[in-house]
Amino acid sequence: MLLQEQESRSRTNNISMANSRVSGMKYKSESLKGLGAKYGATLRRRYTKIYLMLKRRRNCPMCGSIRFKREAIGIWKCGKCNYKVAGGAYDL
Ligand SMILES: [Zn+2]
Repeated sequence: MLLQEQESRSRTNNISMANSRVSGMKYKSESLKGLGAKYGATLRRRYTKIYLMLKRRRNCPMCGSIRFKREAIGIWKCGKCNYKVAGGAYDL
């Protein structure tokens, strides 16, 4: 009887461990392929987050066009109506 209890307990422990491993993999964020194996996983993940923010499609505050892009660090320009405005380095 005691042996059976121990067995069942160890089995549930194994299951919970497996579950936590699966959920851990589920939340792993993907990074860009361009950097390969260089610079370390944390830095690649940070770079991906900022890069995607920078390249995201955003609407021009003046005409609403999606051709609104960063011209230089902190300078954002609309390709359609030439509206230029100062903003952040990676996000307006
Ligand atoms: Zn515009």
